[in-house]
Order: sequence, then C-alpha cells, then structure tokens
Amino acid sequence: MKKEEKIFKAETKELLNLMIHSIYTNKEIFLRELISNANDAIDKLKFKSLTDTDILKGNDKFKININVDKENRTLTISDNGIGMTYEEVDDNIGTIAKSGSKLFKEQLEEAKKGDIDIIGQFGVGFYSGFIVADKITLETKSPYSENGVKWISSGDGNYEIEEIAKQDRGTKITLHLKDGDEYNEFLEDWKIKELVKKYSNYIRYEIYFGDEVINSTKPIWKKDKKELKDEDYNEFYKDKFNDFSDPLCVMHNSVEGTISYDSLLFIPSKPPMNYYSQDYEKGLQLYSRGVFIMDKASELVPEHFRFVKGLVDSQDLSLNISREMLQHDRQLKIIADKIEKRIQSELEKMLKNDREKYEEFFNSFGLQLKFGIYNSYGMLKEKLQDLLLYYSANEKKMVTFNEYVENMKDGQKEIYFASGESYEKIDHLPTVEMVKDKGFDILYMIDNVDEFCIQMLRDYKEKP
Ligand code: ADP
Repeated sequence: MKKEEKIFKAETKELLNLMIHSIYTNKEIFLRELISNANDAIDKLKFKSLTDTDILKGNDKFKININVDKENRTLTISDNGIGMTYEEVDDNIGTIAKSGSKLFKEQLEEAKKGDIDIIGQFGVGFYSGFIVADKITLETKSPYSENGVKWISSGDGNYEIEEIAKQDRGTKITLHLKDGDEYNEFLEDWKIKELVKKYSNYIRYEIYFGDEVINSTKPIWKKDKKELKDEDYNEFYKDKFNDFSDPLCVMHNSVEGTISYDSLLFIPSKPPMNYYSQDYEKGLQLYSRGVFIMDKASELVPEHFRFVKGLVDSQDLSLNISREMLQHDRQLKIIADKIEKRIQSELEKMLKNDREKYEEFFNSFGLQLKFGIYNSYGMLKEKLQDLLLYYSANEKKMVTFNEYVENMKDGQKEIYFASGESYEKIDHLPTVEMVKDKGFDILYMIDNVDEFCIQMLRDYKEKP
C-alpha cells in the first residue's frame, strides 16, 4: 500500500508556526474546531446520500465520539461522516486554512500587536489541534475508496501519509497531548463535558463521551414554541445569562428568507448591577448552525436597546467569522436590523397591551431610551419618542407624549414640562402653578438626561 513522507507547503509551515506560538489563552478552542469538522463531515455524507444511497451502507446512527486515554495521554475525536480519500487528505490536511490563509495571516499579525484572542475568533480548523498536541494521528476512510488513510504529523514541518486497512467510514483524530500541567485537564471527564457544553452543546449529532451523550442536540431556540412553557424559557435565561430573576419579556423567532436565523431574546426585569457602568458589555451570543461562535456580538443589538440579552443562530453565517469581520458582514447587518425592529415592535406592543408591564420595563430601562435620543442627536426621535413615559401632573400617573397631546385643552399650543429633583419639589414651583391655573397639564421630569433629551426632541406632533 502507498506510503509517503512529505513536507508541508512553505506557507502552511509558516502559518502553523505562527499560530502555535501566538496562542496563549483559549487553548481549549481546538475541541470546538474538531467537533465542528466532524459535524460538517456528517453533514456532507448526509447530503451526498440524498443522491447516492449506497454510501450509507447499513443504517448506522450518525454520531461523534470523544475518548480519553490518560495513560497514553491521548484524546480522540471520531465521526462516521464522509471521511477522506488519500488525495483529499493530502490536499485538505497539507494546507492550513486553505480557504483564507491570507486573511488568517493578516489576522495573526493584528493579534500579535494586541492581546487579541485570535483563535477564538478565527476558525483555524484542524491545525488548532497542535496547540495542545505534539503529535496528531488522523485515520480516515471515504466511502469512495477501498482503503483507509493514516496521516501523522508533529506539526513541525513534515507529515507521513499511508494507506491502511480500515473498514468503517469516517475519521478518527488522535491528539497526543503535550507534556505540562496546563494540558492535563484535557484528559479529565469534567473538562471535556464542560467544553462540549460551552462550545458545542447544540451540535445536532449526538456527541458520545464513552457511553454517555453529553450534548443536548436540540437547542431550546430550535424547538417549536408550542412545545415550550414560560418556565423553560425562564430557566434557560437564568442559567445562561446568570440572572436571579425571570426575564420580563421573551422573544423567540424563527426567520426564513434570503437570510435565515433563529433568535431568542430577553429583556431582563432589572438592570444588571453593572448596567450603567463601563464594564457592562452589550451583545448577543452568536451561533452558526448550532455551533457557538462568540459571546456578546455587539453588532447585533443597537446601543439604545443594549439591555437586551439573548442569542442568534444562523446557518447563513460563516463559522470563521471574527469580531473584526462582524462589522462588515452584510448578512449580520441584515439580522441586526431585523432584531432591532423586533425589539421595537415588542416594546410598542407591550405599551399598548400590557401597560403595567411596560411601566415596569420603563422603570428599569427608560433611561436608556432617553440616552438613545440624546446620544443620537435626535436621529432616533421618530423611533423612540413614543416609547417615553413622563409623569403627568393632571393624571397623576405616567403618560406618553401622545396621551398628553390627545388631552390638550382647546387653545393649548405647546407641551409643558418642568424639571426638578422630585415630583413634590416640582409641584411647588410657582411657574408650575401658573400653568396649572390655565388648566394645562405638565409633564414632570426628574432625570438628569431629560433636559438634554427634550432639547433633541424639540417637538411632538408639531407641538413644541
Ligand atoms: P476548514 O474546516 O475551515 O475547511 P480545516 O483545516 O478544519 O479547515 O479542515 C480542512 C479540510 O479537511 C476540511 O474542509 C475538510 O474537507 C477536511 N476535514 C477536516 N476534518 C474532517 C473530518 N473529520 N472528516 C472529513 N473531512 C475533514
């Protein structure tokens, strides 16, 4: 049978070196990459089998297996997907980040300047195994070739490739872990389970660790809304976003079209402790085909709705998307626009149909909407002005501008407001009494931002 010793293409070698030596944090990402490759390999097989049923041979269940061997310090990831022929191994595995090696290199250069976590952002694929392994053995069999193929490399420039007798279709990757305490945890059950839960929980195929399935296979956001109860959403929210309270509002949507995605969004009932401080980071979790890509993708929610938490899963996004690329990604922009509209309409609906709940919301996050108007120099006026509530002196409750205007007296041309420290203090202002004497209502404003916000608003329905 065929056997060769080869050297990596110069470019591959260089990139491999760069990569291994610039990644200090987030070593763990390699597992996500290998599981994601296994997932893709099964996807490919499934797709091919639509037109070529022969390749399935027997109806074995699609699955991914993870095994550890502490004695030999190996970690194995195997799948029964499409596998690779000799030529495919040589082509695919001999070339690093084939699809985007130039981009990858640029990103690496960038990453070296700052302490950017390159690997978490850029799918480096198969080669990420060399972050934790000093030797990788890959054994694979394609349904299109008689023999299997074995590929071995220490990631130092050379690799060996040979034909082997292998019966079962699919790919098995064995990582021989490097020596050193920091690599030991990748042999521990809890660590493997933790990593799968963190990065690959919602891979559609079952991931076995020994005899146990350790992923959920069907994420809550992929489930039918009718199957789900409030409790399911609440528990998921509290667990995922570390909140003690149930969310005030849940938005679960499945959008199909030129770009398809599922989104699960939450408005917390109270602002998180650090909400109005610098270390609060807005953003949604981003998944692509059930594979976790990143936390807090800030491009997905506009600043004025930064209180929204949740996630987006789209099959139309590349796994290799990086934070830098997010800003320019057209698909992502489309999703972000739809999400903004979704939140907007949810708030409008809540204001109309569940005033009590809306007031609770406004109590927690109304300030954010006011900042939105102020910070955008009034550009968000049309979007946000109808979501504001102010205390009405006449009604003795919170009212919208629209409600105020509808109740204006004949002959009243302007909207009156007064600002001060508290409603009581405003009540006693002499000018306030004068306006009241005319029978006009007054809106009381007690937040610092109100005066700036009002300057940006200028008028409402042509009433100054
Ligand atoms: P990417 O997945 O971004 O293309 P990788 O370096 O991860 O880059 O993988 C290179 C190629 O090797 C893949 O495109 C695929 O064709 C092949 N490959 C990797 N892992 C597997 C696997 N488990 N089964 C079949 N083919 C694989």
